[in-house]
Amino acid sequence: MKVVALAGGVGGAKLVDGLAAHLSPDELCVVVNIGDDFEHLGLYICPDLDTVCYTLAGIANPETGWGRADETWNAFDSLVALGGPDWFHLGDRDLGTHLERTRRLRAGEPLSQVTRAFCAAWGVRPTVLPASDQRVPTLVHTEEGVLPFQEYFVHRACQPKVTGFSFAGAAQARPAPGVLPAILAADVVILCPSNPWVSIDPILAIPGICQALAGRPILAVTPIIGGITVKGPAAKMYAELGIQPSALAVARHYGSLLDGFVLDVVDAELYEPLRSLGLQVLMTDTLMRDRADRLRLAEAVLQLGERLLNLATCNESDEKAV
Ligand code: GDP
Repeated sequence: MKVVALAGGVGGAKLVDGLAAHLSPDELCVVVNIGDDFEHLGLYICPDLDTVCYTLAGIANPETGWGRADETWNAFDSLVALGGPDWFHLGDRDLGTHLERTRRLRAGEPLSQVTRAFCAAWGVRPTVLPASDQRVPTLVHTEEGVLPFQEYFVHRACQPKVTGFSFAGAAQARPAPGVLPAILAADVVILCPSNPWVSIDPILAIPGICQALAGRPILAVTPIIGGITVKGPAAKMYAELGIQPSALAVARHYGSLLDGFVLDVVDAELYEPLRSLGLQVLMTDTLMRDRADRLRLAEAVLQLGERLLNLATCNESDEKAV
């Protein structure tokens, strides 16, 4: 089964890791959010791409979910001792990635090509694509003004109240090479349990991606369990925007894009409301505490994908028969 997964960082990477264990490399393509990307210390940093690639390569920090395992902090410590910025942590191994990426980008290589080269070096076999080769930074609109994403997320620790989001330059951006063909060839598209506002929406904002998705069987895995997030500000964002955070709110957020939804067992009371949105719903434990959980959840997600694919095939043959 050919699968395209749309992913942000930590939540997305965990599910993608499980999917990669069940699918052959040519069956899985991951399209990754680039809205978090930014320049810092003269380096171009792509937090979600790195989290997905490090996780698939088995070199991610298992405690944080981001950054590298077996990391040291010598460069960062000496930078801070000299009065440099201390709000964005960069480990020594991780710095190597940003130095080489920045060098290649400055030499004119597009981000998708750099990512392909890094994946080959790290032994990552599924296809990993940035959503676009152009820069489309997420801007967080808050009661304290418009903040660049990392300023809001890391420097201000998500404290300012959000009022909305925009994706600068999205209208002029194009999907990276390979993104649209992968979506058009996909049997099923999975919206990973990533932040809908700042991980999945920035991907959907790139012209052409929503059009390519229309008509594909699409399912989402809830990033909200029991009204709260496992990590990060998604639930806080819903609340500040006047929407009660829940799996149902996530399904409504994606609206008519969705055919299926993976709901956590703790939210069983949302099963019928989700069904009444016309969705195929699979209820399971969606919390990925360890690798076994990632594999188990990925298997369940793929089962729902099969179900959606069979329904789509049946509908097609019904239409042909009419
Ligand atoms: P970020 O870019 O690093 O913030 O990562 P994502 O946007 O991919 O993931 C953040 C979202 O993933 C949050 O809304 C979390 O609640 C969700 N998440 C993280 N771990 C899990 C998990 O184990 N299960 C589920 N269902 N959601 C998770």
